[in-house]
Amino acid sequence: MENKKRNIVIIGAGISGLATAHLLEKAGYKSTIIESGSNPGGAMQTLIEDDFLVDFGPNSGLETTPVISEIAKDVGLKEEMIYANEESNTRYILRNGKLMALPTSGPAFISSKLFSLSAKLRLMKEPFVGKSDDGYYQSIADFVRRRLGSEFYDYAIDPFVSGVFAGDPEKLSVKSAFPKLYRLEELYGGLVKGMIRGARERKKNAEKSKQNAKMFSFLYGMQTFPEAIAKSLRSKKIYNTSVQKVEKVETGYKLNIKTGEEIKEISADLVISTSPAVATGKIFGGIDAELKRHLDEIYYPPVMVLYLGYNKSDIKRPLDGFGYLIPSKEKRKFLGAIWSSTIFPNRCASDKASFTVFVGGARNQELMKQDANKIVDDAIAEFSEITEVTGKPVYIKHKIWERAIPQYNLGHIEHDRYFEKFESDNAGLFLSGNYRGGISVGDCVKSADLTAKRVIEFIEKK
Ligand SMILES: Cc1cc2nc3c(=O)[nH]c(=O)nc-3n(C[C@H](O)[C@H](O)[C@H](O)COP(=O)(O)OP(=O)(O)OC[C@H]3O[C@@H](n4cnc5c(N)ncnc54)[C@H](O)[C@@H]3O)c2cc1C
Repeated sequence: MENKKRNIVIIGAGISGLATAHLLEKAGYKSTIIESGSNPGGAMQTLIEDDFLVDFGPNSGLETTPVISEIAKDVGLKEEMIYANEESNTRYILRNGKLMALPTSGPAFISSKLFSLSAKLRLMKEPFVGKSDDGYYQSIADFVRRRLGSEFYDYAIDPFVSGVFAGDPEKLSVKSAFPKLYRLEELYGGLVKGMIRGARERKKNAEKSKQNAKMFSFLYGMQTFPEAIAKSLRSKKIYNTSVQKVEKVETGYKLNIKTGEEIKEISADLVISTSPAVATGKIFGGIDAELKRHLDEIYYPPVMVLYLGYNKSDIKRPLDGFGYLIPSKEKRKFLGAIWSSTIFPNRCASDKASFTVFVGGARNQELMKQDANKIVDDAIAEFSEITEVTGKPVYIKHKIWERAIPQYNLGHIEHDRYFEKFESDNAGLFLSGNYRGGISVGDCVKSADLTAKRVIEFIEKK
Protein backbone atom coordinates (compact mmCIF):
# COMPACT_ATOMS: atom_id res chain seq x y z
CA MET A 1 0.00 0.00 0.00
CA GLU A 2 1.31 3.38 -0.99
CA ASN A 3 1.23 5.66 2.05
CA LYS A 4 0.17 9.07 0.88
CA LYS A 5 1.38 11.42 3.59
CA ARG A 6 -1.41 13.33 5.28
CA ASN A 7 -1.91 13.82 8.94
CA ILE A 8 -5.52 12.62 9.36
CA VAL A 9 -7.11 12.16 12.80
CA ILE A 10 -10.38 10.27 13.25
CA ILE A 11 -12.26 10.79 16.52
CA GLY A 12 -14.14 7.66 17.65
CA ALA A 13 -13.70 3.93 16.95
CA GLY A 14 -17.37 3.03 16.46
CA ILE A 15 -18.47 1.64 13.10
CA SER A 16 -18.52 5.15 11.56
CA GLY A 17 -14.90 5.95 12.47
CA LEU A 18 -13.50 2.51 11.72
CA ALA A 19 -15.27 2.09 8.37
CA THR A 20 -13.98 5.54 7.36
CA ALA A 21 -10.42 4.63 8.42
CA HIS A 22 -10.65 1.37 6.48
CA LEU A 23 -11.90 3.04 3.28
CA LEU A 24 -9.23 5.74 3.54
CA GLU A 25 -6.52 3.10 3.97
CA LYS A 26 -7.78 1.30 0.88
CA ALA A 27 -7.21 4.56 -1.00
CA GLY A 28 -3.68 4.85 0.41
CA TYR A 29 -4.29 7.20 3.36
CA LYS A 30 -3.42 6.11 6.88
CA SER A 31 -4.94 7.95 9.82
CA THR A 32 -4.73 8.07 13.61
CA ILE A 33 -7.89 6.92 15.39
CA ILE A 34 -8.49 8.24 18.88
CA GLU A 35 -11.08 6.46 21.03
CA SER A 36 -12.09 7.34 24.58
CA GLY A 37 -13.19 3.78 25.39
CA SER A 38 -10.97 0.76 25.84
CA ASN A 39 -12.30 -1.23 22.82
CA PRO A 40 -13.41 -0.71 19.26
CA GLY A 41 -17.17 -0.81 18.59
CA GLY A 42 -18.87 2.16 20.29
CA ALA A 43 -22.57 1.23 20.32
CA MET A 44 -21.77 -2.22 18.90
CA GLN A 45 -21.11 -4.26 22.05
CA THR A 46 -21.24 -8.04 22.33
CA LEU A 47 -20.79 -10.24 25.39
CA ILE A 48 -20.48 -14.03 25.24
CA GLU A 49 -21.11 -15.56 28.65
CA ASP A 50 -22.53 -18.84 29.98
CA ASP A 51 -23.36 -20.04 26.45
CA PHE A 52 -25.42 -16.90 25.69
CA LEU A 53 -24.46 -14.29 23.09
CA VAL A 54 -25.68 -10.86 24.14
CA ASP A 55 -25.69 -7.86 21.81
CA PHE A 56 -26.23 -4.77 23.97
CA GLY A 57 -26.35 -2.43 20.97
CA PRO A 58 -27.52 -3.36 17.47
CA ASN A 59 -28.65 -6.98 17.17
CA SER A 60 -28.49 -6.89 13.40
CA GLY A 61 -28.07 -4.57 10.44
CA LEU A 62 -29.74 -4.27 7.05
CA GLU A 63 -27.46 -4.81 4.07
CA THR A 64 -28.54 -1.67 2.23
CA THR A 65 -25.09 -1.12 0.71
CA PRO A 66 -22.59 -3.57 -0.80
CA VAL A 67 -19.85 -1.70 1.13
CA ILE A 68 -20.74 -3.69 4.28
CA SER A 69 -19.90 -7.08 2.81
CA GLU A 70 -16.93 -5.61 0.91
CA ILE A 71 -15.44 -4.43 4.21
CA ALA A 72 -16.31 -7.76 5.89
CA LYS A 73 -14.45 -9.53 3.05
CA ASP A 74 -11.44 -7.17 3.27
CA VAL A 75 -11.06 -7.82 7.01
CA GLY A 76 -11.51 -11.60 6.76
CA LEU A 77 -14.98 -11.73 8.33
CA LYS A 78 -17.10 -12.63 5.30
CA GLU A 79 -17.32 -16.30 6.35
CA GLU A 80 -18.79 -15.21 9.71
CA MET A 81 -21.38 -12.87 8.19
CA ILE A 82 -24.76 -14.53 8.77
CA TYR A 83 -28.26 -13.72 7.55
CA ALA A 84 -31.57 -13.86 9.42
CA ASN A 85 -33.59 -17.08 9.28
CA GLU A 86 -36.66 -17.01 7.00
CA GLU A 87 -38.85 -17.59 10.05
CA SER A 88 -37.95 -14.17 11.39
CA ASN A 89 -39.73 -12.41 8.49
CA THR A 90 -42.91 -12.39 10.58
CA ARG A 91 -43.21 -9.50 13.03
CA TYR A 92 -45.88 -9.30 15.68
CA ILE A 93 -47.70 -6.31 17.11
CA LEU A 94 -49.48 -6.35 20.47
CA ARG A 95 -53.15 -5.38 20.24
CA ASN A 96 -55.57 -5.78 23.14
CA GLY A 97 -52.99 -7.91 24.92
CA LYS A 98 -52.61 -10.38 22.01
CA LEU A 99 -49.77 -10.78 19.53
CA MET A 100 -50.98 -10.38 15.95
CA ALA A 101 -48.81 -10.82 12.85
CA LEU A 102 -48.13 -7.63 10.89
CA PRO A 103 -49.44 -8.39 7.39
CA THR A 104 -46.83 -8.13 4.64
CA SER A 105 -48.94 -8.90 1.55
CA GLY A 106 -52.23 -7.64 0.11
CA PRO A 107 -54.23 -10.84 0.87
CA ALA A 108 -52.72 -11.06 4.40
CA PHE A 109 -53.69 -7.43 4.99
CA ILE A 110 -57.30 -8.03 3.92
CA SER A 111 -57.71 -11.03 6.24
CA SER A 112 -55.63 -9.55 9.12
CA LYS A 113 -57.33 -9.00 12.48
CA LEU A 114 -54.72 -6.38 13.42
CA PHE A 115 -56.67 -3.64 11.61
CA SER A 116 -60.41 -2.96 11.63
CA LEU A 117 -62.44 -2.80 8.42
CA SER A 118 -62.61 0.98 8.63
CA ALA A 119 -58.80 1.21 8.96
CA LYS A 120 -58.45 -0.97 5.87
CA LEU A 121 -60.91 1.17 3.90
CA ARG A 122 -59.13 4.33 5.07
CA LEU A 123 -55.84 2.99 3.74
CA MET A 124 -57.37 2.67 0.28
CA LYS A 125 -57.92 6.42 0.20
CA GLU A 126 -54.15 7.06 0.40
CA PRO A 127 -53.58 7.70 -3.34
CA PHE A 128 -56.16 10.51 -3.16
CA VAL A 129 -54.71 12.36 -0.15
CA GLY A 130 -53.01 15.66 -0.99
CA LYS A 131 -49.80 17.17 0.40
CA SER A 132 -49.70 19.09 3.67
CA ASP A 133 -49.14 22.85 3.78
CA ASP A 134 -46.52 22.29 6.49
CA GLY A 135 -43.90 21.23 3.93
CA TYR A 136 -40.92 19.55 5.54
CA TYR A 137 -41.89 20.70 9.04
CA GLN A 138 -44.05 17.66 9.78
CA SER A 139 -43.67 14.89 12.33
CA ILE A 140 -43.87 11.28 11.19
CA ALA A 141 -47.07 10.99 13.30
CA ASP A 142 -48.81 13.87 11.45
CA PHE A 143 -47.61 12.62 8.08
CA VAL A 144 -48.88 9.05 8.59
CA ARG A 145 -52.19 10.04 10.22
CA ARG A 146 -52.90 12.35 7.28
CA ARG A 147 -51.96 9.84 4.58
CA LEU A 148 -52.95 6.50 6.14
CA GLY A 149 -55.34 7.22 9.00
CA SER A 150 -54.98 7.11 12.76
CA GLU A 151 -55.48 3.38 13.33
CA PHE A 152 -52.67 2.49 10.94
CA TYR A 153 -50.53 5.07 12.71
CA ASP A 154 -51.34 3.64 16.16
CA TYR A 155 -50.79 -0.03 15.33
CA ALA A 156 -48.08 0.01 12.66
CA ILE A 157 -46.08 3.24 12.61
CA ASP A 158 -46.00 4.16 16.30
CA PRO A 159 -44.53 0.76 17.32
CA PHE A 160 -42.22 0.71 14.28
CA VAL A 161 -40.78 4.11 15.24
CA SER A 162 -40.01 2.92 18.76
CA GLY A 163 -38.42 -0.21 17.26
CA VAL A 164 -36.02 1.80 15.12
CA PHE A 165 -35.37 5.07 16.97
CA ALA A 166 -36.74 4.35 20.45
CA GLY A 167 -38.29 7.67 19.48
CA ASP A 168 -41.41 9.79 19.86
CA PRO A 169 -43.26 9.85 16.52
CA GLU A 170 -44.95 13.16 17.43
CA LYS A 171 -41.48 14.78 17.50
CA LEU A 172 -39.48 12.92 14.85
CA SER A 173 -39.24 14.82 11.59
CA VAL A 174 -40.58 12.79 8.66
CA LYS A 175 -38.12 14.44 6.27
CA SER A 176 -35.02 13.88 8.45
CA ALA A 177 -35.86 10.54 10.08
CA PHE A 178 -37.71 8.87 7.19
CA PRO A 179 -36.43 10.75 4.12
CA LYS A 180 -37.48 8.03 1.67
CA LEU A 181 -41.09 8.12 2.86
CA TYR A 182 -41.16 11.90 2.59
CA ARG A 183 -39.64 11.76 -0.88
CA LEU A 184 -42.36 9.35 -2.11
CA GLU A 185 -44.94 12.05 -1.43
CA GLU A 186 -42.74 14.84 -2.79
CA LEU A 187 -41.80 13.07 -6.02
CA TYR A 188 -44.85 10.96 -6.80
CA GLY A 189 -47.67 12.58 -4.82
CA GLY A 190 -48.30 9.59 -2.54
CA LEU A 191 -46.92 6.43 -0.96
CA VAL A 192 -48.71 3.82 -3.06
CA LYS A 193 -47.90 5.61 -6.35
CA GLY A 194 -44.34 6.19 -5.15
CA MET A 195 -43.77 2.60 -4.11
CA ILE A 196 -44.85 1.28 -7.50
CA ARG A 197 -42.76 3.77 -9.47
CA GLY A 198 -39.86 3.72 -6.99
CA ALA A 199 -39.62 -0.10 -7.27
CA ARG A 200 -39.36 0.22 -11.08
CA GLU A 201 -36.60 2.82 -10.72
CA ARG A 202 -34.67 0.81 -8.12
CA LYS A 203 -34.82 -2.21 -10.43
CA LYS A 204 -33.19 -0.08 -13.15
CA ASN A 205 -30.45 1.14 -10.73
CA ALA A 206 -29.94 -2.27 -9.02
CA GLU A 207 -30.51 -0.60 -5.61
CA LYS A 208 -32.13 -2.22 -2.58
CA SER A 209 -34.86 -0.67 -0.50
CA LYS A 210 -34.79 -1.20 3.28
CA GLN A 211 -37.75 -3.64 2.93
CA ASN A 212 -35.76 -5.80 0.50
CA ALA A 213 -32.32 -5.55 2.09
CA LYS A 214 -31.12 -8.70 3.87
CA MET A 215 -30.77 -8.64 7.64
CA PHE A 216 -27.28 -9.62 8.75
CA SER A 217 -25.20 -10.19 11.84
CA PHE A 218 -22.01 -12.11 12.59
CA LEU A 219 -21.59 -15.58 14.03
CA TYR A 220 -19.97 -14.21 17.19
CA GLY A 221 -22.04 -11.02 17.43
CA MET A 222 -22.11 -7.53 15.98
CA GLN A 223 -19.02 -6.25 17.78
CA THR A 224 -16.81 -8.70 15.89
CA PHE A 225 -17.25 -6.44 12.84
CA PRO A 226 -15.67 -3.25 14.28
CA GLU A 227 -13.11 -5.42 16.11
CA ALA A 228 -12.04 -7.11 12.88
CA ILE A 229 -11.82 -3.75 11.07
CA ALA A 230 -9.69 -2.29 13.89
CA LYS A 231 -7.41 -5.35 13.91
CA SER A 232 -6.81 -5.20 10.16
CA LEU A 233 -6.00 -1.46 10.11
CA ARG A 234 -2.39 -0.39 9.75
CA SER A 235 -3.41 3.06 10.94
CA LYS A 236 -2.52 3.97 14.52
CA LYS A 237 -5.26 3.36 17.12
CA ILE A 238 -5.12 5.09 20.47
CA TYR A 239 -7.62 3.81 23.07
CA ASN A 240 -8.57 5.16 26.53
CA THR A 241 -7.89 8.63 25.21
CA SER A 242 -10.45 11.34 24.64
CA VAL A 243 -10.18 14.32 22.37
CA GLN A 244 -10.89 17.35 24.57
CA LYS A 245 -10.83 20.12 22.00
CA VAL A 246 -9.72 21.02 18.52
CA GLU A 247 -8.27 24.43 17.70
CA LYS A 248 -7.34 26.09 14.44
CA VAL A 249 -3.64 26.91 14.03
CA GLU A 250 -1.70 28.28 11.06
CA THR A 251 -0.53 24.86 9.95
CA GLY A 252 -3.94 23.17 10.29
CA TYR A 253 -5.43 21.92 13.54
CA LYS A 254 -4.21 21.28 17.08
CA LEU A 255 -5.94 18.65 19.25
CA ASN A 256 -5.83 18.36 23.03
CA ILE A 257 -6.05 14.69 23.97
CA LYS A 258 -6.38 13.26 27.46
CA THR A 259 -5.21 9.81 28.63
CA GLY A 260 -5.88 9.30 32.32
CA GLU A 261 -4.65 12.55 33.89
CA GLU A 262 -2.16 13.29 31.13
CA ILE A 263 -3.04 15.92 28.53
CA LYS A 264 -1.09 16.08 25.28
CA GLU A 265 -1.22 18.18 22.12
CA ILE A 266 -1.14 16.61 18.69
CA SER A 267 -1.47 18.25 15.29
CA ALA A 268 -3.53 17.30 12.25
CA ASP A 269 -4.13 18.46 8.68
CA LEU A 270 -7.61 16.92 8.68
CA VAL A 271 -9.94 15.90 11.51
CA ILE A 272 -12.91 13.57 10.99
CA SER A 273 -15.18 13.46 13.99
CA THR A 274 -17.54 10.50 14.55
CA SER A 275 -18.16 11.02 18.28
CA PRO A 276 -21.77 11.48 19.49
CA ALA A 277 -23.31 14.96 19.14
CA VAL A 278 -22.70 16.31 22.67
CA ALA A 279 -19.05 15.17 22.71
CA THR A 280 -18.54 16.69 19.26
CA GLY A 281 -20.02 19.99 20.46
CA LYS A 282 -17.49 20.14 23.30
CA ILE A 283 -14.62 19.31 20.96
CA PHE A 284 -15.40 21.99 18.34
CA GLY A 285 -17.21 24.52 20.56
CA GLY A 286 -14.09 26.72 20.75
CA ILE A 287 -14.02 27.04 16.97
CA ASP A 288 -17.76 27.60 16.55
CA ALA A 289 -20.15 28.12 19.49
CA GLU A 290 -23.17 27.98 17.18
CA LEU A 291 -22.18 24.48 16.05
CA LYS A 292 -22.11 23.41 19.73
CA ARG A 293 -25.62 24.81 20.19
CA HIS A 294 -26.92 22.76 17.25
CA LEU A 295 -25.21 19.58 18.46
CA ASP A 296 -26.40 20.05 22.07
CA GLU A 297 -30.00 20.23 20.84
CA ILE A 298 -29.92 16.69 19.46
CA TYR A 299 -31.70 14.55 22.01
CA TYR A 300 -30.61 10.98 22.82
CA PRO A 301 -33.23 9.21 25.00
CA PRO A 302 -32.26 6.61 27.61
CA VAL A 303 -32.87 2.94 26.77
CA MET A 304 -32.44 -0.23 28.79
CA VAL A 305 -31.49 -3.35 26.84
CA LEU A 306 -32.54 -6.38 28.83
CA TYR A 307 -31.33 -9.77 27.67
CA LEU A 308 -33.17 -12.85 28.90
CA GLY A 309 -32.32 -16.54 28.50
CA TYR A 310 -34.90 -19.27 29.21
CA ASN A 311 -35.23 -23.01 29.00
CA LYS A 312 -37.05 -23.60 25.70
CA SER A 313 -39.47 -25.93 27.46
CA ASP A 314 -40.75 -22.94 29.49
CA ILE A 315 -41.96 -21.01 26.41
CA LYS A 316 -45.50 -21.97 25.55
CA ARG A 317 -45.99 -20.06 22.29
CA PRO A 318 -44.16 -20.81 19.03
CA LEU A 319 -41.18 -18.51 18.49
CA ASP A 320 -41.98 -18.13 14.83
CA GLY A 321 -40.90 -14.58 14.08
CA PHE A 322 -38.56 -11.67 14.61
CA GLY A 323 -40.32 -10.65 17.81
CA TYR A 324 -42.92 -8.05 18.66
CA LEU A 325 -43.45 -4.34 19.08
CA ILE A 326 -45.83 -2.67 21.49
CA PRO A 327 -47.92 0.34 20.41
CA SER A 328 -48.11 3.26 22.93
CA LYS A 329 -51.88 2.66 23.15
CA GLU A 330 -51.26 -0.68 24.84
CA LYS A 331 -49.62 1.15 27.78
CA ARG A 332 -46.98 -1.44 28.68
CA LYS A 333 -43.71 -1.12 30.55
CA PHE A 334 -41.48 -2.03 27.63
CA LEU A 335 -41.22 -1.20 23.93
CA GLY A 336 -40.90 -4.67 22.45
CA ALA A 337 -38.83 -7.83 22.33
CA ILE A 338 -36.62 -9.47 19.75
CA TRP A 339 -36.59 -13.26 19.67
CA SER A 340 -32.82 -13.30 19.33
CA SER A 341 -32.24 -17.05 19.10
CA THR A 342 -34.93 -17.46 16.40
CA ILE A 343 -33.33 -14.86 14.15
CA PHE A 344 -29.70 -15.94 14.11
CA PRO A 345 -27.84 -19.16 14.96
CA ASN A 346 -25.25 -19.37 17.74
CA ARG A 347 -27.13 -17.14 20.21
CA CYS A 348 -27.56 -19.83 22.90
CA ALA A 349 -27.61 -23.61 23.47
CA SER A 350 -30.23 -25.57 21.49
CA ASP A 351 -32.38 -26.31 24.57
CA LYS A 352 -32.53 -22.56 25.43
CA ALA A 353 -34.21 -19.51 23.89
CA SER A 354 -32.92 -15.96 24.17
CA PHE A 355 -34.66 -12.60 23.92
CA THR A 356 -33.69 -8.95 23.85
CA VAL A 357 -36.21 -6.64 25.50
CA PHE A 358 -36.11 -2.84 25.09
CA VAL A 359 -37.34 -0.45 27.78
CA GLY A 360 -37.58 3.35 27.89
CA GLY A 361 -36.87 5.46 24.83
CA ALA A 362 -38.29 8.92 24.13
CA ARG A 363 -41.83 7.63 24.73
CA ASN A 364 -41.11 6.24 28.19
CA GLN A 365 -38.25 8.33 29.56
CA GLU A 366 -39.99 8.72 32.94
CA LEU A 367 -39.87 4.96 33.45
CA MET A 368 -36.08 5.09 33.24
CA LYS A 369 -35.89 7.25 36.39
CA GLN A 370 -36.85 4.22 38.51
CA ASP A 371 -34.45 1.84 40.19
CA ALA A 372 -32.88 -0.52 37.59
CA ASN A 373 -33.99 -3.67 39.48
CA LYS A 374 -37.61 -2.51 39.41
CA ILE A 375 -37.42 -1.77 35.68
CA VAL A 376 -36.02 -5.29 35.11
CA ASP A 377 -38.62 -7.02 37.33
CA ASP A 378 -41.56 -5.14 35.76
CA ALA A 379 -40.33 -5.83 32.25
CA ILE A 380 -39.84 -9.56 32.98
CA ALA A 381 -43.34 -9.83 34.48
CA GLU A 382 -45.02 -8.27 31.43
CA PHE A 383 -42.73 -10.04 28.99
CA SER A 384 -43.57 -13.45 30.52
CA GLU A 385 -47.30 -12.81 30.26
CA ILE A 386 -47.19 -11.62 26.62
CA THR A 387 -44.69 -14.25 25.46
CA GLU A 388 -46.45 -17.07 27.37
CA VAL A 389 -43.43 -17.99 29.47
CA THR A 390 -44.02 -20.19 32.48
CA GLY A 391 -40.57 -20.52 34.10
CA LYS A 392 -38.04 -17.96 35.32
CA PRO A 393 -35.16 -16.74 33.19
CA VAL A 394 -31.99 -18.79 33.59
CA TYR A 395 -29.84 -15.87 32.42
CA ILE A 396 -30.42 -12.12 32.84
CA LYS A 397 -28.19 -9.25 31.80
CA HIS A 398 -28.97 -5.60 31.24
CA LYS A 399 -27.31 -2.42 30.10
CA ILE A 400 -28.64 1.09 30.44
CA TRP A 401 -27.71 3.45 27.63
CA GLU A 402 -28.12 6.90 29.21
CA ARG A 403 -27.99 8.39 25.72
CA ALA A 404 -28.94 5.70 23.23
CA ILE A 405 -29.90 6.93 19.77
CA PRO A 406 -29.90 10.46 18.31
CA GLN A 407 -33.40 11.69 17.50
CA TYR A 408 -33.89 13.36 14.14
CA ASN A 409 -36.63 15.56 15.58
CA LEU A 410 -38.39 18.55 13.98
CA GLY A 411 -35.65 21.12 13.35
CA HIS A 412 -33.01 18.52 12.43
CA ILE A 413 -32.86 19.95 8.92
CA GLU A 414 -31.55 23.21 10.39
CA HIS A 415 -28.86 21.22 12.23
CA ASP A 416 -27.88 19.43 9.01
CA ARG A 417 -27.64 22.75 7.17
CA TYR A 418 -25.39 24.14 9.88
CA PHE A 419 -23.10 21.09 9.74
CA GLU A 420 -22.59 21.82 6.03
CA LYS A 421 -21.85 25.47 6.77
CA PHE A 422 -19.35 24.52 9.50
CA GLU A 423 -17.51 22.20 7.12
CA SER A 424 -17.32 24.80 4.38
CA ASP A 425 -16.10 27.46 6.89
CA ASN A 426 -13.42 25.13 8.29
CA ALA A 427 -11.55 23.37 5.50
CA GLY A 428 -10.24 20.01 6.68
CA LEU A 429 -12.87 19.39 9.39
CA PHE A 430 -15.48 16.70 8.71
CA LEU A 431 -18.52 15.85 10.82
CA SER A 432 -19.75 12.27 10.55
CA GLY A 433 -21.41 9.68 12.82
CA ASN A 434 -24.95 8.57 13.46
CA TYR A 435 -26.53 12.01 14.11
CA ARG A 436 -26.04 12.71 10.41
CA GLY A 437 -27.15 10.60 7.43
CA GLY A 438 -29.05 7.92 9.37
CA ILE A 439 -28.74 5.99 12.63
CA SER A 440 -28.64 2.39 11.41
CA VAL A 441 -25.42 0.43 11.05
CA GLY A 442 -26.03 0.33 7.28
CA ASP A 443 -26.49 4.11 7.14
CA CYS A 444 -23.33 4.63 9.26
CA VAL A 445 -21.34 2.57 6.73
CA LYS A 446 -22.90 4.52 3.85
CA SER A 447 -21.98 7.80 5.59
CA ALA A 448 -18.43 6.50 6.20
CA ASP A 449 -18.12 5.73 2.50
CA LEU A 450 -19.33 9.24 1.65
CA THR A 451 -17.01 10.83 4.21
CA ALA A 452 -13.97 8.89 2.94
CA LYS A 453 -14.80 10.01 -0.62
CA ARG A 454 -15.20 13.65 0.51
CA VAL A 455 -11.87 13.52 2.35
CA ILE A 456 -10.05 12.03 -0.64
CA GLU A 457 -11.58 14.60 -2.98
CA PHE A 458 -10.56 17.40 -0.58
CA ILE A 459 -6.94 16.17 -0.39
CA GLU A 460 -6.58 15.49 -4.10
CA LYS A 461 -8.06 18.84 -5.14
CA LYS A 462 -5.51 20.74 -3.04
C1 LIG B 1 -29.40 -0.01 22.14
C2 LIG B 1 -29.16 0.22 20.68
C3 LIG B 1 -29.73 -0.64 19.75
C4 LIG B 1 -29.50 -0.44 18.39
N1 LIG B 1 -30.04 -1.33 17.49
C5 LIG B 1 -29.73 -1.21 16.18
C6 LIG B 1 -30.10 -2.23 15.26
O1 LIG B 1 -30.69 -3.26 15.64
N2 LIG B 1 -29.77 -2.07 13.95
C7 LIG B 1 -29.07 -0.99 13.51
O2 LIG B 1 -28.80 -0.90 12.31
N3 LIG B 1 -28.69 -0.01 14.37
C8 LIG B 1 -28.98 -0.10 15.68
N4 LIG B 1 -28.56 0.85 16.57
C9 LIG B 1 -27.87 2.06 16.05
C10 LIG B 1 -26.41 1.81 15.69
O3 LIG B 1 -25.88 0.76 16.45
C11 LIG B 1 -25.58 3.07 15.94
O4 LIG B 1 -26.19 4.19 15.36
C12 LIG B 1 -24.16 2.93 15.37
O5 LIG B 1 -23.53 1.76 15.83
C13 LIG B 1 -23.37 4.18 15.74
O6 LIG B 1 -22.05 4.10 15.29
P1 LIG B 1 -21.09 5.39 15.35
O7 LIG B 1 -19.72 4.92 15.05
O8 LIG B 1 -21.66 6.48 14.53
O9 LIG B 1 -21.18 5.91 16.85
P2 LIG B 1 -20.70 5.20 18.18
O10 LIG B 1 -20.83 3.75 18.06
O11 LIG B 1 -21.40 5.90 19.28
O12 LIG B 1 -19.14 5.54 18.24
C14 LIG B 1 -18.63 6.78 18.63
C15 LIG B 1 -17.35 6.53 19.40
O13 LIG B 1 -16.78 7.80 19.78
C16 LIG B 1 -16.17 7.63 21.04
N5 LIG B 1 -15.99 8.96 21.64
C17 LIG B 1 -16.92 9.76 22.24
N6 LIG B 1 -16.37 10.91 22.65
C18 LIG B 1 -15.05 10.86 22.32
C19 LIG B 1 -13.96 11.75 22.49
N7 LIG B 1 -14.10 12.95 23.07
N8 LIG B 1 -12.72 11.35 22.06
C20 LIG B 1 -12.55 10.15 21.47
N9 LIG B 1 -13.57 9.26 21.28
C21 LIG B 1 -14.80 9.62 21.69
C22 LIG B 1 -17.13 6.74 21.80
O14 LIG B 1 -16.51 6.10 22.88
C23 LIG B 1 -17.56 5.76 20.71
O15 LIG B 1 -16.78 4.59 20.69
C24 LIG B 1 -28.72 0.66 17.95
C25 LIG B 1 -28.13 1.52 18.89
C26 LIG B 1 -28.33 1.29 20.24
C27 LIG B 1 -27.67 2.19 21.24
